[in-house]
Amino acid sequence: MKTYRIAVIAGDGIGPEVVKEGMRVLKHAARQDGSFDFSFCEFPWGCDYYLKNGRMMPEDGMERLAGFDAILLGAVGDPRVPDHISLWDLLLKIRKGFDQYVNLRPVRLLKGAPCPLKGVEPGQIDMLFIRENSEGEYAGSGSWLFRDTPREVVLQNGVFSRHGCERIIRYAFETARERKQSLTSISKANALNYSMVFWDQIFGEVGREYPDVPTESLLVDAASMLMVKHPERFQVVVTSNLFGDILTDLGAAITGGMGIAAGANLNPERKYPSMFEPIHGSAPDIAGKGIANPLATAWTAGQMLSFLGYPQWEERIVNAIERVMEEGRVLTPDMGGRATTRQVGDALLACLA
Ligand code: ATP
Ligand code: MG
Repeated sequence: MKTYRIAVIAGDGIGPEVVKEGMRVLKHAARQDGSFDFSFCEFPWGCDYYLKNGRMMPEDGMERLAGFDAILLGAVGDPRVPDHISLWDLLLKIRKGFDQYVNLRPVRLLKGAPCPLKGVEPGQIDMLFIRENSEGEYAGSGSWLFRDTPREVVLQNGVFSRHGCERIIRYAFETARERKQSLTSISKANALNYSMVFWDQIFGEVGREYPDVPTESLLVDAASMLMVKHPERFQVVVTSNLFGDILTDLGAAITGGMGIAAGANLNPERKYPSMFEPIHGSAPDIAGKGIANPLATAWTAGQMLSFLGYPQWEERIVNAIERVMEEGRVLTPDMGGRATTRQVGDALLACLA
């Protein structure tokens, strides 16, 4: 039997509450399956750690994570710590340091999920967002000139390397080919006249190697409108770091909310551990109340199982999530229910039996 070693960074706010349920789902799947198991190692890193130690994780944090088979992360962020510090000193450090250049985010309307769009049925929204996760607008490059003077100027650079664009676009084409689906590229070449022109050019070049994959190229503004008006026309989608971040929050909103939106940060070559985290943040407004929705983290745990070689378990978890939502008796307040995080976790495990 294979035992996977999982590093767990529960993080801040609702992170620990939802991660607990994610770990239960993984353990439950292991028990049911019998061919694999998990051992968890928890790291108390995040904003509390920062407030005590002046950093989000210890200096040797990356080395300590490097040997694990995967990382499960809750959320980071705390009103007492500037967001750019918590993001850069932990989340982006791990994504970049372990070259997790693929951010895989399903935007899929499950059965029973509350959908704010009229007349849309489950099955009609089934997108897979592939967000560039290592460079682009999140490259961290820029300058702050003449600070605190009337001439103050701030520059924030996007970094789009040929290597970086090619590998994410190729990953997206491979995914679309495997799923026998179309691939939509979302950019903004009319306004971003260097980076996005380059992105579109590479999308065209790589696309020539995949004549069997139908493609479409959209501007991000038009894509935002179409995701709401005609979500059924999207299948596999590839886009830049910032656009992917924004559009997947929109995607979450049309498929049941932040409480159910899952995400995986993958290093497809498996040279480094990949990291699995719900796309929501630490949600300080509801932290500590025991009412955070654990379904996003449960789905994220499913993505981990899929990446480790057990895609049937992601499907089983998704089916269990659908049953919990369809029954509608045990749901957290964000989905209109009155149940606690633990009660939804219990209901989910019961459906996974
Ligand atoms: P970030 O800055 O990392 O995006 P955030 O905490 O500011 O994080 P989100 O996590 O994106 O914001 O969530 C916005 C709001 O959605 C939260 O304040 C909360 O009310 C709600 N929310 C997010 N996740 C959940 C969840 N798992 N269960 C219930 N409500 C949630
Ligand atoms: Mg957010």
